[in-house]
Order: sequence, then C-alpha cells, then structure tokens
Amino acid sequence: MSTPKPPQRLFIPGPTDVLPQVLAAQDAPMIGHRSDEFEALFAKVQEQLKQLYYTKDRVYILAASGSGLHEAAIRNAVSKRVLCFVNGAFSERWYTCAANCDKEAIRVDVEWNTAVKADIVSTALQKALQDGPVEAITVVHNETSTGVTSPVGEVAAAVRAISPDTLVMVDAVSSFGGTRIPFDEWGLDLCLASSQKALALPPGLSFCAVSDRLLEKAKTVKGRGWYFDFINLEKSLQKSTTPATPAISLMRALTVQLDIIFAEGLEQRFARHHHLAEKTQRWAVDQDFTLMAEAGYRSPTVTNVANTRQMNIGALNKHLAAQEMEISDGYGTYKGKAFRIAHMGEVNEADLDRLFAAMNEFLNKAG
Ligand SMILES: *Cc1c(COP(=O)(O)O)cnc(C)c1O
Repeated sequence: MSTPKPPQRLFIPGPTDVLPQVLAAQDAPMIGHRSDEFEALFAKVQEQLKQLYYTKDRVYILAASGSGLHEAAIRNAVSKRVLCFVNGAFSERWYTCAANCDKEAIRVDVEWNTAVKADIVSTALQKALQDGPVEAITVVHNETSTGVTSPVGEVAAAVRAISPDTLVMVDAVSSFGGTRIPFDEWGLDLCLASSQKALALPPGLSFCAVSDRLLEKAKTVKGRGWYFDFINLEKSLQKSTTPATPAISLMRALTVQLDIIFAEGLEQRFARHHHLAEKTQRWAVDQDFTLMAEAGYRSPTVTNVANTRQMNIGALNKHLAAQEMEISDGYGTYKGKAFRIAHMGEVNEADLDRLFAAMNEFLNKAG
C-alpha cells in the first residue's frame, strides 16, 4: 500500500469509503470485453475471489447490486418451495423477492436482534418437510439492519443432517471481505455479496459463489431468465468471459482492491474488523448506551446501538458532518431509536478514535 489512507468519512454500512488508488484504477481507457486484456483481468479476479471465499467452486461477477443476486438465487435454485429465515430487513427483502418470483416462499420469523441458529433452522425445516420437499433455504449472514451475525456454517450442517438435497443460500453482503467465510468448509451452495460494503469498492458489482450441486439443480429449474442464468454465466466463465457487457472499470478497481486486501493479509484484515467491533461495543457501553444485537452474535462489521440517551441523530450527524464524518440512523422502524456505526472496509483504529471523540463532544454538549 503505497498511498496513505485518507481519514475515514463514512461510518455507514455501505457505501464505504474507497481508497484513492482504487478509485483511480477506474480512469484507465476503455477496452473491448472480447479482448485478451479483459479475459486476463477476468481470470485474475476470478482466482482472487475464489481465494477470498476459500472455495474451489466458481464465483460469478455481475453488474448489479447485491439485491440482484437475491433474485438470481431464487430463480436458479428454486422451482417451487423455499424456506426463508427472516430476522431483519434484508432477510425480509430476500423472502419478498422469492414470493414475488411466484415461488412458495415459507417465511420463518426469528426475533430481530437475534441470530438464526441451527436449532431454529432444524425445527422449521422439519416442519416444512412434512408438506413436501424444501429445495433451498435463504439466510442472511450479517443482518445489517440489526448488527447480528448468524452462524451459517452451523446452519448448513443442520440442514445437511436433515435434508441433504436442500440447498443452503447465504447473503453475506455486509460481511464478505470483513470476516472469514469459508464457503467449501461450511458446505454452502450459494453465497452472495456486494462491492460497496466490507470490500470497500464503489457500488455496482456483486459476487456469487455457487456450488456444483446448485448448478446441477439449476439445469432442472424453469424460468431462469437470461441475465442471471447461472448456466449461461457458467458457459462464459469457462471461456473466461461474461455473456453481457461487464462493468470493466469496476473490475479494474476490484483487482486493485483485492491486491490491497491480500497485501494486508486476510487474517489481519479479519482481526482488524473484529477488534474494531469490540472497540465500538466498548465505547457504546462506556457511554451508557446498550447494544441491540444479542451477545455472542454481534457483527464484526457494523454495531447497532440502542439510542438509550435519546440523542437527536439528525443533530449528531450535522455535528459529525462539520468534521467530515457520518454515521447511520436506525434502520426502518428503529429510526431515532437506534443508530449504527459501521467499521467495515478500510476503517482503522485512528478513524474510530476520531469518530468517538466527535461523538463524545456532541454528547457532552447535549448534556
Ligand atoms: C446492503 C445489503 C443488501 C442489499 O445490497 P445492495 O447491494 O444494496 O442491493 C442485502 N443484504 C444485506 C445484508 C445488506 O447489508
């Protein structure tokens, strides 16, 4: 990392700040996507992403935000029945997507601010299986609306034990790149992510690791469409290219950022995020706030804090804006009742010190 990192401005759960050299990578002149140069770039990012997913399987790269892949997952893996675990706003979005794709989407509500755990999944799956096969489950790894991380590896093992043919599909939009997600070891069938969160890239790209099992299943599913059809994407991937025009500039930024991530070291990067999460939790408790997420399942990339001191979040963000910083209000119904501090991407300890100093200033002023 040659260029020093400028001070962090965004402590919101995406988009995150992007390093200047990563932004600059997008400035290179355009090339055709049927060129050797593009194929080489595409082959390189493919290998890098597989390393980040700890997988031997493939990773599709789409010009879409992560929500696009919610839809891709459903349309490729599910003919009829899917079990959707809902413990926050993004898992609810995935459920809605499945229902709107005209699938029989069975919604399992799990209390917000708590994790989707293996025993909950076992019980719900066993119940659903009484009425017929369940082709897939959907679960969000890191619920950005509540700051809860669910043990999706344990969930996958529980699913396998009960129903080996049920595919395990995971949304890791706000955790991929911030914490270890060993796709093969956990036995996942699909794991999707966006560029603009823990990966600290501009918005516009999304990534999807897909197992052989899921790809085989996709061949039997009707109505896969074209743009998000995994069979179509796989054919192109074999030739190191994409069916449609790829986001070439964003892929150039991607490879530069992945080089930076590997230069930092994956273990170091993940440890940094966990350390920043603990630091943020400690700050919140020291200031007499309480944490929203249940203990033991708190996110390494975003901390949700109950606004127990009734701060005016809008006024706080005005105060922070004067120092070129920003945090997030609570999501949806938590607006005003909670606030969120993201510590994902390239945030470091000094950035958090600066943020907490400014927040303490505001709290002392407010009395
Ligand atoms: C942000 C987010 C999404 C939506 O991703 P987009 O890239 O905005 O479409 C989905 N799931 C989770 C967990 C998220 O944090």
